[in-house]
Amino acid sequence: MARYTGAVCKLCRREGKKLFLKGERCTTDKCAIQRRNYAPGQHGQGRKKSSEYGVQLRAKQMTRRYYGVLEGQFRHYYEMATRKSGITGENLLAILESRLDNVVYRLGWASSRAEARQLVVHGHFTVNGKKVDIPSYLTKVGEEIAIAEKSRESAKIQEIVEKNSAKPVVKWLDLDKTNLKAKVVAVPERADIDLDVEETLIVELYSK
Ligand code: SF4
Repeated sequence: MARYTGAVCKLCRREGKKLFLKGERCTTDKCAIQRRNYAPGQHGQGRKKSSEYGVQLRAKQMTRRYYGVLEGQFRHYYEMATRKSGITGENLLAILESRLDNVVYRLGWASSRAEARQLVVHGHFTVNGKKVDIPSYLTKVGEEIAIAEKSRESAKIQEIVEKNSAKPVVKWLDLDKTNLKAKVVAVPERADIDLDVEETLIVELYSK
């Protein structure tokens, strides 16, 4: 599937927010947002007043980029969210959070969602004991996610897990650090999701 392959820091600068797309670098002073917090391009430093549509579009683009999801799939998640009971915007974020690549990232088994996606594709994780190599797999409450037996011996995986071992884990995932497995114990609530976006703007955009 086609993916954005350009300079990811430009995406953060375009949104004017840290989207944490580059792992470790994002928490250092090398972060491009800290150095040049204005949109990329010739007119990036000019201030533009955004229309209502522009504000809604930016909220959608930021969320899509944060999770590394393409437009078609993002819209599909929105449609799924509308069919669920509850608040559509919150449902949408909960669906995005439950993607396997995001879960792997949240567990500290990858330094960024992009890295998580790559590790999933390479078959390093299991769900309920079976290998799942689809980053968009939507995890469910009660499922057990684990690092595959063979992958536990990989120096790369060990290094990543060690590097992120102090990272706090979201409360809807119960991580067993010793046995390198985790259980999904709840559906993520809005308060558990650290993305600074007004998700209602996305709903407004798509319901036009
Ligand atoms: Fe975004 Fe990370 Fe690049 Fe900073 S270092 S601009 S947070 S991707």
